[in-house]
Amino acid sequence: PEPRIRRALISLSDKSGLEDLAHALVERNIELISTGGTAAKLKGAGFAVTDVADVTGFPEIMDGRVKTLHPKVHGGLLGVRGNPVHAAAADEHEITPIDLLVVNLYPFEQTVAKDAGYDECVENIDIGGPAMIRAAAKNHAAVTVVVDNADFAELLQELAAHGNRTTPAFRKRLAAKAYARTAAYDAAISNWLGAVANSPDGHATGYPPTYTTQYRKAIDMRYGENPHQSGAFYVASAPAPGTVSSARQVLGKDLSYNNVADSDAALECVKSFAERPACVIVKHANPCGVAEADTLEAAYDLAYRTDPESAFGGIIAFNRELDVKTAKAIVERQFVEVILAPSVSDDARAAVAVKKYVRLMETGAWPPAAAPRREMRTVAGGLLVQDTDLALYDRLEVVTKRQPTAAEMADLLFAWKVAKFVKSNAIVYVKGRATIGIGAGQMSRVNASRIAAIKAEMAGLDIKGSAVASDAFFPFPDGLLSAAEAGATAVIQPGGSMRDADVIAAADEKGLAMVFTGMRHFRH
Ligand code: 5GP
Repeated sequence: PEPRIRRALISLSDKSGLEDLAHALVERNIELISTGGTAAKLKGAGFAVTDVADVTGFPEIMDGRVKTLHPKVHGGLLGVRGNPVHAAAADEHEITPIDLLVVNLYPFEQTVAKDAGYDECVENIDIGGPAMIRAAAKNHAAVTVVVDNADFAELLQELAAHGNRTTPAFRKRLAAKAYARTAAYDAAISNWLGAVANSPDGHATGYPPTYTTQYRKAIDMRYGENPHQSGAFYVASAPAPGTVSSARQVLGKDLSYNNVADSDAALECVKSFAERPACVIVKHANPCGVAEADTLEAAYDLAYRTDPESAFGGIIAFNRELDVKTAKAIVERQFVEVILAPSVSDDARAAVAVKKYVRLMETGAWPPAAAPRREMRTVAGGLLVQDTDLALYDRLEVVTKRQPTAAEMADLLFAWKVAKFVKSNAIVYVKGRATIGIGAGQMSRVNASRIAAIKAEMAGLDIKGSAVASDAFFPFPDGLLSAAEAGATAVIQPGGSMRDADVIAAADEKGLAMVFTGMRHFRH
């Protein structure tokens, strides 16, 4: 028979869910041992808990640097159950088995990510925590080790289902996760220290996201991009806040491979807009509607109107809390795969819940500026690595005789922000801070321009008086002329073509206002 869990050691930096866990364990007559802060919190909540110092007979010393590093703890975790020699040693040294270890580590990654000073980062290197985690994981034949508060619920289910026992399969899975966590933790420390060692002032700014970042499997998908491909979602050990990797799914079916990819595209795009409520609708990795307005509902409505046909079955991301009006407007009007927002009001959640399948994701707030990061894609037999395109423009230079009006300028910037997230070749028409035609993923810029205009017409939108963005320069005047013919009056593009002079002359002849950004945004 599996050993029953009698004693648990809990040592948590992130104490969310601690009291509920302790409550459930105490109800199951499991004795609790805890380190300083954790024990204090539990005692404050009225729990009977033994201090680690009382187990070891040794106080926590050196600002907590040494608290659980003691044979009474490590013997309790490592002793092989049923081994007479180990049992004799335990007897002789008064070591009592610890059957369950619940630890999460000092928040080293978060400390580095918030750009803390060197001393604070060093102080947030957990020593005793990883030691206990590794010990418990090694002894997973008998010991259950939890390193992630998200696993509390499953732990309690196991204990309930098996009379205070856990299954070997569960313990093995948790042990594997435990080693993944300590490996990722040490990798994070090594990355940071390496960056510190290489920086002239000894201060590593931001978190250096190198390709040695560790990932853990978060979702085993039913399939990949297509049903005959297998697929899974791996999440970085410390994903940035407000990303698809750190988002919480509050409703709906399991996320598919394409859901995750498109959610990322929609969410990263909507982050370009901060001042006003904004909405991005993505389909097949491309925005098919983007708008900004005074209310979220109005932003959604405008985004939807860009291309109702494509919006069907799309992914919708917002930059404000999802309110009930907007939620209702969506589910009453269209089929939607995923809705993402920093937060979701209770009644909005209830409104979405009416549609059983809709996946609702709460991302939490995101920082105003994303930390530099790298991205990877594989090619046959290799890996391409690059810095993520987080910049917007190098300059905003009016190159035509005519200056854009204030309204045109606002639309130009809006179109430029959207074009950055549209697959190349990208042409984006915008009027009144809403897209009216998007041409994506074309091999020719002229065709991207034509398609954007055709789509606007199909949606019953008028391009006349719109602003247009091109993700890369117009190599010839023809692309620009096609946009002007369609009715655009202002243009934004990187510039830098050999024939810039011709393109500018063509713009002047048509009375267009044109802005150069000095920065290209290919996206493939
Ligand atoms: P508490 O808030 O309970 O005082 O501390 C909880 C944290 O202490 C956990 O993150 C745990 O990993 C960490 N911890 C436990 N034992 C030790 C130790 O001996 N040394 C260090 N540096 N950290 C420890």
